[in-house]
Amino acid sequence: WTSPEALREKELHAHLNGSVSFETIEKLIGRKPHLNIEHGMTAIGKGQRRTLDECFQVFKVIHQLVDTEEDILMVAKDVIKEFAADGVKYLELRSTPREEKSTGLTKKRYIETVIKAIQLCKNEGVDIDVRFLVAIDRRNGTEVAVETVKLAEEFMLSSDGLVVGIDLSGDPTVGHGKDLLPALQMAKNCGLKLSLHLSEIQSQLEESDLLLDLPPDRIGHGTFLHPDVGGSQSVFDKVVKNNIPLELCLTSNVKGQTVACYSKHHFKYWYHLGHPSVICTDDKGVFCTDLSQEYQLAASTFGLSREAVWELSQQAIDCIFAPDAVKQQLKQKWIDLKPQVF
Ligand code: 5GP
Repeated sequence: WTSPEALREKELHAHLNGSVSFETIEKLIGRKPHLNIEHGMTAIGKGQRRTLDECFQVFKVIHQLVDTEEDILMVAKDVIKEFAADGVKYLELRSTPREEKSTGLTKKRYIETVIKAIQLCKNEGVDIDVRFLVAIDRRNGTEVAVETVKLAEEFMLSSDGLVVGIDLSGDPTVGHGKDLLPALQMAKNCGLKLSLHLSEIQSQLEESDLLLDLPPDRIGHGTFLHPDVGGSQSVFDKVVKNNIPLELCLTSNVKGQTVACYSKHHFKYWYHLGHPSVICTDDKGVFCTDLSQEYQLAASTFGLSREAVWELSQQAIDCIFAPDAVKQQLKQKWIDLKPQVF
């Protein structure tokens, strides 16, 4: 279906540099022909799969292409407009601030540039409410995590509500959450919301158990948290007791081979429990998808009716990190538009 439901989609799990479209990659390659980067190096097409490690190599290639303020501004503006064109009304983008000595890019300028892109889109009248989560790459350890939280706090106070939280992501095979706990606790104490990638791979159970005590405000992937896919009773209870929403990214998990096929996606366990589960894209550029497609996949794989898809989309409103006033506005929009769908 060309979904009118798409009118009120909420995208809550989108990594900026993983969301770069084919068209924007073309422009970046044009800016940096000397890098000899070809399109096949930045995206995983239909029917293709990669190991998780290979997926992380793809991000390194994209980072080579996106290393100046001008690049970040173009990428962020393009990504926001593409989500808006897909019918997304509320978007939380996340990105890891990088410094690039060769181009003079600093982490502070990185965040400022993403914020500028959000504001420019707003001024141009792009019909989407965008918020930003500053990402901690778990590879970089305690010190960088603390520095990132301090930067995020600074921007939370000065960005007119655009910076709303912290994301913990990066290669799950590297580093341990216990080293990041103090930084994450600090973030929580100062009012930043927390979205943590948890249990993307089976061996992270002990780490998840520890980080769930914070508790986080949302969980990215959580692939191996449910007991039916190897999760312990302890982690399962913590997720359920605290009613922590899960951000679920079907295509990403299948193409990255942490989930064997769509029908085995852990969406089915959590959805059937009635646990808050939000359909997201993760990296729409790298995995060649968009949010409408992800909703469609969930509907066709798990036999969801139009009403069920509608409810799934509605439920996501309660999971956003923007303040209650924004939730109320989105809920009103949902009520106003419902008669057009049913
Ligand atoms: P960026 O933070 O540069 O805007 O977006 C790319 C980064 O997001 C990657 O380098 C990685 O740290 C993180 N990322 C993107 N997709 C995933 C994912 O599926 N799992 C994890 N753990 N991290 C991811």
